[in-house]
Amino acid sequence: MSGIKKRVLVTGGAGFLGSHLCERLVAEGNDVLCVDNYFTGRKDNIAHLLSNPNFEALRHDITYPLHVEVDEIYNLACPASPVHYQFDPVQTTKTSVMGAINVLGIAKRVGAKVFQASTSEVYGDPTVHPQDESYRGNVNPIGPRACYDEGKRCAETLFFDYLRQHQTRIKVVRIFNTYGPRMHPNDGRVVSNFIVQALRGEDITIYGDGMQTRAFCFVDDLIEGFVRMMGTPDDVVGPINLGNPVEIPVRGLAERVLSLTGGTSKLVFKPLPVDDPIQRCPDISKARAVLGWEPHVDLDAGLGRTIAYFRALLV
Ligand code: NAD
Ligand code: UDP
Repeated sequence: MSGIKKRVLVTGGAGFLGSHLCERLVAEGNDVLCVDNYFTGRKDNIAHLLSNPNFEALRHDITYPLHVEVDEIYNLACPASPVHYQFDPVQTTKTSVMGAINVLGIAKRVGAKVFQASTSEVYGDPTVHPQDESYRGNVNPIGPRACYDEGKRCAETLFFDYLRQHQTRIKVVRIFNTYGPRMHPNDGRVVSNFIVQALRGEDITIYGDGMQTRAFCFVDDLIEGFVRMMGTPDDVVGPINLGNPVEIPVRGLAERVLSLTGGTSKLVFKPLPVDDPIQRCPDISKARAVLGWEPHVDLDAGLGRTIAYFRALLV
């Protein structure tokens, strides 16, 4: 346990990132309330925490108000995979915008610190590379990704207006592609798709020519960044990029996954989804300077741990 026991609300706590965060906060001796509507999250992700008296789970949709007394809030509720956030785009925007209003309302009322899991998607299909926090983005406001991108942008606006208008204690991070155990096998994101396909001996689906790039951060590194950000003084509000600045083309990722799984799947090429960003890589200078943070798990090590998770799950 480090420091004083805090009451912490984690929205989206039964999801991929949320469950790792809850685990970390409980391990540090905090009193954790996980709120989730289980749209993309799973009870299995938090089952191991339920017997801990410092952990509580509540089924609740964050688009509706919630009245709780807490010291800190991590707002992670929102589907994150393009397949899932485009399934019900109106609900996605509501989750980001009304969810932000509701958590900011709690923070304002009880004086809690409130953390927003924003995203590299606020940069859209970027025209500067790598992306630092001063870049204002290139987002299509009417495309199929807009429900997520613009929802998250509006959430950031609300966070900064609550700071200016109500002096709310905000912390905003922009997360770049993160992967690891507890991603949903049908999540639709590239790392889980490729690993599941390789382990099942199915074709690996590359969208476009596979030359679009991403930079992949292992979940443990990211969660360390979250906790460091929450622990900063009140004048550190962000936004701060969190991600692993090692860029790789999607096709290169497929080859790494095949090599690490020992799979023999074929690579097949499918159409590139509309508005799919061509390149993405974080500039993490600010995270290094302000948080003393940088990722330590390299891609092969992180993929190895993720493959082991999916191997056990698929059996
Ligand atoms: P996830 O889909 O596993 O987790 C999201 C969680 O939010 C799920 O448990 C889901 O059931 C819950 N949720 C969705 N709508 C809700 C609602 N209306 N009320 C209550 N709960 C709701 O995805 P994740 O990768 O764990 O992402 C967590 C957060 O981090 C999201 O806000 C996402 O936008 C952000 N993020 C993630 C990544 C990444 O690479 N993993 C990158 C950028 C941003
Ligand atoms: N992608 C792919 N095959 C898949 C899933 C995704 O080639 O089965 C590509 C997708 O088009 C994008 C990249 O991989 O260029 C990352 O996609 P993901 O959905 O993981 O996250 P994004 O960064 O696009 O939000």
